[in-house]
Amino acid sequence: MLGVQLLGNETVTVKEYPEPTRNENDLLIQVKASGICGSEMHGYRSPTPQASNGGHEVAGEVIEAGGSTKFKVGDHVGVHAVWGCGDCRWCGVGKYTYCNNRIGGGSGTHVERLAAPDHVCLKLPEDIPFDVGVLLTGDGLGVPYHVSQRLNTKGGDFVCILGAGPVGLGNTIVQSFLGAEVIVIDINDYRLSLAKAAGAAHTINSKETDPLEAVTEITHGMLVDKCIEAAGHPETLKLALILVGVAGAVMCVGEQGDLPISPSRDLIRKDLTLMGSWFYHYAEYPAMLNLYRRGLPIGRMITDHFPLVEAQTAFSKFANGQAGKVMLEP
Ligand SMILES: [Zn+2]
Ligand SMILES: [Zn+2]
Repeated sequence: MLGVQLLGNETVTVKEYPEPTRNENDLLIQVKASGICGSEMHGYRSPTPQASNGGHEVAGEVIEAGGSTKFKVGDHVGVHAVWGCGDCRWCGVGKYTYCNNRIGGGSGTHVERLAAPDHVCLKLPEDIPFDVGVLLTGDGLGVPYHVSQRLNTKGGDFVCILGAGPVGLGNTIVQSFLGAEVIVIDINDYRLSLAKAAGAAHTINSKETDPLEAVTEITHGMLVDKCIEAAGHPETLKLALILVGVAGAVMCVGEQGDLPISPSRDLIRKDLTLMGSWFYHYAEYPAMLNLYRRGLPIGRMITDHFPLVEAQTAFSKFANGQAGKVMLEP
């Protein structure tokens, strides 16, 4: 079967891989759509070749169900991005990110077929397109949904999102849908236009406009209730701590290096809550699906579809910041 390999130095190839081997309770899935994630850019830009690819957001059709009692051949499924052991107390309540014995995860999903344990698969209703299914069962919606649960967004909140890549866009869609007045900050005008289309009430290009001045004006001097750092840079997290008002909350989503913080200035005297959010829970899927049924326009994140064999074009476009969510379709 065909699959993508990252060769390093921003080069990818589509090559022949052996068919996946299936354990007893694994499903064999014919991949219909596999999303490119920002987290894959590290491997894409690395000077050394990777063994395969870092794809982990995927949906498809079950072609072998083996001993699974939950799924049958023909079912449409998405695959959760984090694979818990399935046996511990956290896995028992569908919180695989807390599992201490995670079994790797679905890395390498830019392929024609893949095997996955049935307890990490999520059933997709048949009327849902596979590309949207990738977002609903993967971190495309999972990450912003989990953020919204941790932040407890209320209608009328001012929420500032730093970074308008796919994670920032997903947060823009979810926070706007939940009633927040969303301000998105980035340095890429194309991505800011996507944020606007995704529901942002205000967009700020911080290369041209001072973000503190702009946010002060928009919020009538109050600054924002919540800030979501989705750019993954210490400088933007620092900015988030400045743009949030008293009694507010700052959510770290973008993985990043160290940042010196002054507890007195940045946290204590502002009564501030600083928190992190990692991935999403398997158990959150029914609520995510319900939000979509109620009109959450999550499909707006998707800007491009490419056949698997055009993976190089897809990766280049994504890496150049000229795309939202990009789907590879075998
Ligand atoms: Zn991802
Ligand atoms: Zn576990």
